[in-house]
Amino acid sequence: MPYNVTLIPGDGVGPELAEATRLVLDASGAKIDWEIQEAGLAVMETEGTPLPDRVLDSIRKNKVAIKGPITTPRGKGFRSVNVALRKALDLYVCLRPCKHFPGVRTRFEEVDLVIVRENTEDLYAGVEFDRGSDEAKQVIALAGGRIRDDAAISIKPISAFASERIVDFAFRYAIENDRRKITAVAKDNIMKATDGLFYRTAREVAKRYEGRVEYDEWLVDAMCMQLVQKPELYDVLVMPNLYGDILSDLCAGLVGGLGVAPGANIGDDLALFEAIHGSAPKYTGLNKVNPTALILSGVLMLRHLGERDAADRVESAVAAVIAEGKDVTYDMKPNRNDPTAVGTREMAQAIVAKMGAH
Ligand code: NAD
Repeated sequence: MPYNVTLIPGDGVGPELAEATRLVLDASGAKIDWEIQEAGLAVMETEGTPLPDRVLDSIRKNKVAIKGPITTPRGKGFRSVNVALRKALDLYVCLRPCKHFPGVRTRFEEVDLVIVRENTEDLYAGVEFDRGSDEAKQVIALAGGRIRDDAAISIKPISAFASERIVDFAFRYAIENDRRKITAVAKDNIMKATDGLFYRTAREVAKRYEGRVEYDEWLVDAMCMQLVQKPELYDVLVMPNLYGDILSDLCAGLVGGLGVAPGANIGDDLALFEAIHGSAPKYTGLNKVNPTALILSGVLMLRHLGERDAADRVESAVAAVIAEGKDVTYDMKPNRNDPTAVGTREMAQAIVAKMGAH
């Protein structure tokens, strides 16, 4: 039986990357029936919303989706479609594996980290009060002199519920993917209530997996230093939303940056796979940018579907093409103006050719 997967091409460079990814996944051996669902800038003009209900219905029906990036106009226009999707579908896990591929220029070689970031609460819950608002005044009064009168306020909710489910996901992911250690990251020496609750909950969850997966803890500031000095010592890192946002980009930087960093947003029974990078509008239609991040997001999707052999086949072919360094996009060449750089489509075709060769 083929898998039904929703494919959202996105906008900007999204459609080119989606086409390249589809080419590679179709050659992987996994049988996928694609349901194409347009969303983003052009859809806003024709349907009055960048994220029509049909897109959400399709993901709910198929349970698995992969998407190209979607532009969020700054200041005005519509809300981020990416954030709206995560909220509407309760995709509470943001999963970001960061693995070094030989041939990608980086400072470190043996990095193979996975960031598991809580996606729904923390300072990103969107509960903010402007300077001088009634709500800000009420909070300032409650704080009894600890907040200045002219402050704007953001609320940082960390719940036992959300902490439990994200840490439990990290342990299950570790077991399913043969990973050895979970490191919980927060800052409870300062935020004793919120980050303290996160750690206390994490320790409870860790007890359930004792003997199967190691568990340790780092404060987020010390973790940053560890990661830029000895990233090879760490394995799966789990943390609240804000720290996760920052550390995922830090770790993407450790392995070569945006062009090679895949991701997934996962809920209880739905999963949406996407690259970390955005729609790179200035390259739209130029067949120029690197398809690796979206193709590796497709590898995560294949693993999620249980298609381990197909996933390994694609990943090995991507690794081989990168290691050879010949059929790669401009950003992977030592000199960015290298005239031998190939386009998005040609790099995908080289990956397909490598799969055939093995
Ligand atoms: P961006 O990631 O689109 O691009 C920044 C720069 O990184 C590009 O100019 C390019 O030089 C490089 N780059 C990005 N992807 C690349 C690739 N695959 N290959 C080679 N080089 C690549 O970031 P931005 O310019 O800040 O954002 C553009 C738009 O994308 C914004 O509207 C933003 O809101 C949106 N965005 C969407 C998502 C998403 O859909 N998940 C994520 C991030 C940003």
